Formats: sequence, C-alpha cells, structure tokens
Amino acid sequence: LRKRNRAAVLAAMRRAATVSRTALTGDTGLSPATVSAITGELLAERVLLQDKQINLPNGRRGRPAISLAFNPENCVVGVASLKVGAVNAAIYDYTGTQIASTQQPIRTDNPDLGDITLAIGSLCEAMLAQLPANRLDLRAINVSVQGITDIAETTMIWSPMTRKRNLPIASALAARFGVPVHVGHDCNRIVMALQAMERDRLGDHFAAVLLSHGIGMGIFQDGRPLQGERSSAMEFGHLSYQPNGALCRCGRRGCIEAYAGDYAILRAARGEPGDAAPVGIVTQADFDEILERAVAGDRCALEACERAGAAIGIGIANMFALIDPFPVALVGKGAALLDFMRPSMMEMIGRRSLMAELVEPQLVSHSDDIGIILQGSAWAALEEVDAQIAKSV
Ligand SMILES: [Zn+2]
Repeated sequence: LRKRNRAAVLAAMRRAATVSRTALTGDTGLSPATVSAITGELLAERVLLQDKQINLPNGRRGRPAISLAFNPENCVVGVASLKVGAVNAAIYDYTGTQIASTQQPIRTDNPDLGDITLAIGSLCEAMLAQLPANRLDLRAINVSVQGITDIAETTMIWSPMTRKRNLPIASALAARFGVPVHVGHDCNRIVMALQAMERDRLGDHFAAVLLSHGIGMGIFQDGRPLQGERSSAMEFGHLSYQPNGALCRCGRRGCIEAYAGDYAILRAARGEPGDAAPVGIVTQADFDEILERAVAGDRCALEACERAGAAIGIGIANMFALIDPFPVALVGKGAALLDFMRPSMMEMIGRRSLMAELVEPQLVSHSDDIGIILQGSAWAALEEVDAQIAKSV
C-alpha cells in the first residue's frame, strides 16, 4: 500500500510539476495525513524539494502554502532517437529539463547492432562526462526508433535504417550502463511528449501524425500510447490509399506515405511521375523551397500539398471510423505545409465522416519532430525512474 501511495503522489507531481500538499490530496484521493507522510519521506530522500518562498497575492495574510517540486539534482536520464543517417541524444534532469544534447551521423549502409549501440553509448558517455559532479546519477535510458519495436520495448524488430532485423538494443545498452533501457516507436514518444505539453488543447485522447521522411501515427488513449498485441504497430503511413498508385519507399504502391512523405511531396512538386524512385534523404533546403513555391502560388507545389493533404485526410477519416473523432497533432517538417494541405485534408475528412455534423478536429502543429521525440523519451524514462523510486521502500 505504501508503494502504491508513493506511486500515486509521484504520478500527480509528474502531471503538475509543482504542487501544494492540499492539491496533492485532491489529485490522489489520499488523506492529508498520508500525503504529508509520503511527501515527508520523499523530501528526506531528496526526491522532492519544498519552496517556502511563495509570494502571496497583495494584502493577503496568513501562512503561505508550501509548494513541492521535483529536485532537479535527484538523477538524470539519457535519451536517443534513431533515424536513417542520424542519432540524436540528450540528457534530461529529474524535472524533465534538457541539460545536454548532441548528435552524430550513422552509416546508412546497413548498420548492425554494434554500430547502433556504439553510437548511442558514446554520445551518452560524452554528454555525461561534461556534466557537473552532482548530475551523474544516470537512472534510465530511453531510445526511440523509426520502425517497429516489440511490445516490451526491448528490440527493434524492423526499421528503414537497416536491413538487419530483431536487434536487441535495450539489453546491449543495459549491459553497458547498468540501468533499465527501453526502445520504442518514435510516434509513441511523440504522444508521450504531447500529453504533457499540450494537455489543454489535446486532452487525454488524441493522435499525433508524424509528417517527415516517413509518415507515422501514435494514439494516446487511457493514459498510454496505444500498442498492438505483439508490436508497436501503427504503420499509418503504409495504409493503402490508392491501389496501384504512386510508388512508396516500402516498395508497394499507393500507400499514404507515397503521397505525403517528404520525398513524395518533393517528387510531385518537381512534376515527376508517381513511379519515380523515392529519394533517400530530402534536405531541409529542398523542403523549404517547396514551401516558398507554394507561398508564391506555384501550381505544382500547391498540387503536391493538396494531394498530401487528401491522403492524410483519408487516413485520419479511416481512423475516425475505426475509433472516434479525436484531436490530431501534426508533427514534423511537413507540418510547415499545413496551410496548403488543410483544405483538401478537411474536405476528405468531411466527405467520409459518418457523423451528421462534422466536428472539425483540433489540429495542432509542431515542426520540430526530433525535439518532441526526445522530450517524449525523457518523459517515458522519468516514469520508469518514478516507478523505481515508488518501489524503493
Ligand atoms: Zn508503403
């Protein structure tokens, strides 16, 4: 029971960041005496800090409410994001604030488990070596990948970054660092970040569509990212949109991604046919040029955006038919084209809606996908640390 109460207090703190004991009583349903006892323990363990320097509104008298906050020096977590050609990594403190970040290229010609764990491991070690001595207590590592992972988040089952399959990345890194490691789908990390960053706009049930080289989707439901029975699932980008349509990076035809992936938008904006081979990496400069041309009213660029919007709109409409309409966040560099994609996207959603009245989905856009992925990984790692702390009595 004590472990469960500690977990409830830490979870309420994680949602609110700073909070009074009174608010914790309301959020957890625990008695004031229990909240006092548990926060007292967590203060003694230096997991929490209390701030007595609360300024009361002018003219109010009485004892100031004491607010509680996570101790940033309690520990750190390491995170990394793997995608074709690059590894990004960062260190976050216990409050979820990023205190170091770095990146390096990774070979694109079929990297193996050793290449991947060496890249992540050396980036994390280099960042840790630069931190002050009171910030060295690494407690968890969380990795996100483009691709499919197992439901226990130990293994990268499939990824476009390599032809190797079933790479046990978590156990290799856990052996090196001696901390728990999880490896999950990048779209699941995006929804973990957004449930913290955008709770007011997105609520507790929403989807995030990643608009990048590939197209992915994460769904947040019942307090967790939605997963399949065996794998991270949610290969939204490879849902069929136009049978026998444009060529997808996966080798099939007519996937949503074959119209909405950055390579597909570039291909259409250049007036190339849909069966032209997808390019490997679309540079930011190439992508910015599409945006400039769309702003200037260039017909090919506008049509490329329109077709991308229609493909995503059909995909979202299908998800609405399977589940329910929900708010949708669009994340990644493709979100910069949202103004030009929105009309066709909304038209497709409206045309296929089974509801008598179309509720326009709340659309939230963020173009910095890597920043959000890393933040979501940090959130997942910190939940893991909170669970360790809750149990350690
Ligand atoms: Zn495909």
